[in-house]
Amino acid sequence: MIILKLGGSVITKKDAKEPSINYDNLNRIAEEIANSSSDKLIIVHGAGSYGHPFAKEYEIGSKIKDEEDFNRKKLGFSITQSWVKKLNTAVCDSLRENGVLAVSIQPSSFIITKNKRIYSCNLDLINKYLKYGFVPVIYGDVVVDLDESIKICVLSGDQIIKYFGENLKPERVVLGSDVDGIYTKDPKKYGDAELMKKVTSIEDLIAEGSSNVDVTGGMKGKLLELIELAKIGVESEIINAGREGSIKRALNLEKGIGTIVKR
Ligand code: ADP
Repeated sequence: MIILKLGGSVITKKDAKEPSINYDNLNRIAEEIANSSSDKLIIVHGAGSYGHPFAKEYEIGSKIKDEEDFNRKKLGFSITQSWVKKLNTAVCDSLRENGVLAVSIQPSSFIITKNKRIYSCNLDLINKYLKYGFVPVIYGDVVVDLDESIKICVLSGDQIIKYFGENLKPERVVLGSDVDGIYTKDPKKYGDAELMKKVTSIEDLIAEGSSNVDVTGGMKGKLLELIELAKIGVESEIINAGREGSIKRALNLEKGIGTIVKR
C-alpha cells in the first residue's frame, strides 16, 4: 500500500484571491498516477486556496468567545466544508477521467478530533474500498472537536497522513509539494537554501545545517507529523509534485527523489 499526498500548493493556485485549481498540475498528476504500477493506493490532498483563506477568515479552531462568535464560526465551517468538497470532486473527476477508480471520502462526515488531534476515525470502510480495488481520496477538511472551548477545527491533510501511516502501515508514504523537499531554509525566499536528502529528527535538522536551519509555514507542520511517523517506523519522502514525472517515479517505488524522513 502507498499513501500519496498531493499538496494544496500543487493542485490549487495557493495565493489566488478566489479558490482556483491548477489544472495543468492536477491533470498531469492524475495521468502519472494512472500510468504507475501502484497496487493499493490512498490519496490525501490538501486544500490550498480552497480552504486556508476561509479557515483563516472565520478563525476556525480558535477559542469560541460567545454565541455570536460560534454562529459566525459555524457559517465559516459550512463555507469551508463546501469549498474543499468542490476541490475533492475536481480531484476525483480528474483521476477517474484518466482511468483511476477514485472514491471520495469526506473527513467531516466521520472523523472527530480532540484538541485538534484525530480522536475517532473508523478505517473499516477505507479498508473495504482498498480491498475492492478503489482508490480512496481523502482531504484536508473542517471537523467537529471534542474540546468544548473550540468545538470545531481544521484537520490538515498532513495530520491525516500521520494517522493513516500509523494505522494502515503502508510500504510507502509520499508527499508531493511545490518544492524539491526540505531545505535548510525556505527555498522560495532564500537562493542559498540547500536541499537535505534525509531528515531523522528535529535535533538532527538543527545539527545538520548548524543554527541556520529554518523550516516554517506549511512545511513545518508537515515535517513535525512526518517525524512522529518516522519514530514509529514509518518512513516518508517529500518530493516536488510540480516536476513532471516525479509522482510516477515515486509510485514506482523509486527512492531518494526528494527528502526522506526516517528514524
Ligand atoms: P503543501 O501545500 O505542498 O502541502 P505548504 O505550501 O503548506 O505545502 O508548504 C510548503 C512550503 O513550505 C513551500 O512552498 C516553501 O515555501 C515553505 N517552506 C518553508 N520553509 C521551508 C524549508 N525549510 N524547506 C522547504 N520548504 C519550506
